Amino acid sequence: MGKVLIGGGAPISVQSMTITKTADVEGTLQQIYALAAAGCDIVRCTCNEIEAAEGLAQIVPRSPVPIIADIHHQYKMALAAMEAGVQGLRLNPGNIRSPEHIKAVASEARDRQIPIRIGVNGGSLDPALYKKYGGITPEAMVESAQREMAYFHEVDFDLMKISVKASNVPLMVEAYRQLSEVTDVPLHLGVTEAGPLPNGLLKATAGIATLLLEGIGDTIRYSLTADPVEEAKAGRQLLEALGLRERKNIDLIACPSCGRAEIDVIDVANRAMKAFGDRKIPLQVAVMGCVVNGPGEAREADLGIAAGNKRGHLFVKGRSVAVVPEADMVEALVEWAEYINEHGSEAAVARVDTAIAEREAERDRKALMSDKGEDANHSTERIVEIRRRNER
Ligand code: SF4
Repeated sequence: MGKVLIGGGAPISVQSMTITKTADVEGTLQQIYALAAAGCDIVRCTCNEIEAAEGLAQIVPRSPVPIIADIHHQYKMALAAMEAGVQGLRLNPGNIRSPEHIKAVASEARDRQIPIRIGVNGGSLDPALYKKYGGITPEAMVESAQREMAYFHEVDFDLMKISVKASNVPLMVEAYRQLSEVTDVPLHLGVTEAGPLPNGLLKATAGIATLLLEGIGDTIRYSLTADPVEEAKAGRQLLEALGLRERKNIDLIACPSCGRAEIDVIDVANRAMKAFGDRKIPLQVAVMGCVVNGPGEAREADLGIAAGNKRGHLFVKGRSVAVVPEADMVEALVEWAEYINEHGSEAAVARVDTAIAEREAERDRKALMSDKGEDANHSTERIVEIRRRNER
């Protein structure tokens, strides 16, 4: 797809779609740039009218990422989009059904070497298949894709990928599983019309992540009822979380907080997220509620902060390095993260006297222990009580 490889061993790519009128060239390009900055590799724009195709002719050469034209109903718009120079097309077999029209588009795409996605959508399934299968089923969606593929093959065109999206997660997962059994064509994953945040995120993640972990899928799109930048971010973050994409931003982890917490962990974690924003610091940073367990529980993190006695204890890979006033915790975290990112952990640790920090952390740890006890949950007494009741 233009400069982005899809399929085979290529990295999984993230896609999204603009929500501007494609004829609005400047507005659409602005959104494309925002999407690319958020981690989107390929952007789709609707090509629903001739003005949109004309817009694409101006958008494509100025876009930082390959552009796909989304085509519904009018096959002539596919021809116009190719003329405009798009790097890819998406056709919905449910609403361009004439074999002649499909083959006309595929022949032109073959000559121009432009890939096409066969975008089956549960909601707009070919009525004949709906009738044959008695509804939207995985089998019906797979057959829809196979029929379209057969038309493509008739004209010797095989530069394609396929999606079988549905808004129902189990249905979508099963359709992709079945599809992956019958073809090696690259697959584009998505849960269609997943809805607004946060439910849409959960639905899309449930479907997409399940399949990716099974080794199914080559490119993904979150279809959210939200600013498309949220789609791009979600796609990137999912790939990072699954270890399928190298991390570019902070991975902020935080303890869930408990009775031992010395700070409002939710507030500090949120403030830290905001402070890091989109900074390109690929480190794992931990916000922990107490110094008693925090540094140990988050010892794998590159950097972290734990609260104790109104102070923030900074630690690098589990090692105490500095103590700061509670009010400066977030600021200190950002400063240390930037330093580590630039100079490495060893250099960051070398700039301080860790013995002092370790002593201070130990002092606060002890103070908290004597205050709340080593056993904050009073488990010893609880166990005695459980046994006593059991003996009755
Ligand atoms: S780090 Fe401390 S406050 Fe956070 S969950 Fe663990 S024990 Fe509780």
